[in-house]
Amino acid sequence: MKAGTRMRVPFSYLDRQFAHLDGYLHDIRALVRTGDFTLGAPVREFEKRFAALCGLPHALGVGSGTEAIVLALRALGVGSGDEVITTPTTFIATVGAIVQSGAKPVFVDSEDGFVIDPDRIERAVTKRTKAILPVHYTGNVADMPRIMKVARKRGLQVIEDACQAIHASIGGEPVGSWGVAACFSLHPLKNLNVWGDAGVIVTRSAALAGKLRLWRNHGLINRDESALFGFNSRLDSLQAVVGNRLIGEAEAITKKRIANARRLDAAFADMAPDVLVPVRRPGVRHVFHLYMLRARRRDALVAFLNKRGVEAKVHYPTPVHLQKAAKPLGYKRGDFPKSEEDSRCVFTLPAHQHLTGAELEYMIEQVRTFYS
Ligand SMILES: *Cc1c(COP(=O)(O)O)cnc(C)c1O
Repeated sequence: MKAGTRMRVPFSYLDRQFAHLDGYLHDIRALVRTGDFTLGAPVREFEKRFAALCGLPHALGVGSGTEAIVLALRALGVGSGDEVITTPTTFIATVGAIVQSGAKPVFVDSEDGFVIDPDRIERAVTKRTKAILPVHYTGNVADMPRIMKVARKRGLQVIEDACQAIHASIGGEPVGSWGVAACFSLHPLKNLNVWGDAGVIVTRSAALAGKLRLWRNHGLINRDESALFGFNSRLDSLQAVVGNRLIGEAEAITKKRIANARRLDAAFADMAPDVLVPVRRPGVRHVFHLYMLRARRRDALVAFLNKRGVEAKVHYPTPVHLQKAAKPLGYKRGDFPKSEEDSRCVFTLPAHQHLTGAELEYMIEQVRTFYS
């Protein structure tokens, strides 16, 4: 490519991903003919395949990643009067889900890889703490061995927010196999994406899986009998049909994202302190839902990249504890220095599976041009 050539590198790749619609439409036609629209065969098939992907016995399709977290907390008996430990370095939904469960979110600062700092968790535990909710943010995996150690010592349940981390693992053990349950999102912007909102809860526990099956569907044991007052949070059969087509590609999607991230990591390795690649912990299979870095003069860099056609983004300019929604929690600026510092210097580059080699090199060249 000639120097000075302009390209457009969009963040969203949905047009590319669903460019070939015929297979999907064929499957949806078949579904419509059956009228099997709620909790039918496609949902059961998707749950089976998703559980296999995670290497776990049980997966339950629900309405969204947010509802997955609310339902998991509620089914585990976490609610009003309880505290749940998480980090402000996350998408707002993690914290909203804790609040919607009735519990109070308690924050712990993040570490270099944008995940909860395991060294700070124990200090945040009180008599009311019921659970730890680590977020595998950006597709990186929180330090589960150390988090589980604190949890066991203090008698806490661990629920993993794996919404950004389908197919990630640590020490060869997949996310979802550490805590008592893990929650995933199939939102159109996530690594495994369907045509609207959808989520999944995975667990080893047959008892919890049975409870969640009730919680997501009005507590119904059968058509006429209800065991408890639950929710309506079912994975749509239509979304399960889309998911069943896509899930076979999960391995290829993950591998491509990892390969793209490796290329970017290598390209930026010598650019400190202008561009800082976060720590890559050994043994972690980071799946790069977001390829997120730190940069000097971040806002100017992002504006420059956007002008040159590279749709760089900021996730997010305001950490959760400083959001208006978080006011009742009583936190203030300065409480979580790492999270706050990151909100000023992080930026995200496209690293998705449909990125071309030319687009990848163009992005690298533009970042280099900005600092030269
Ligand atoms: C997307 C996301 C959620 C919520 O998932 P939805 O399916 O959008 O409800 C929760 N936590 C994290 C970290 C997410 O990225």
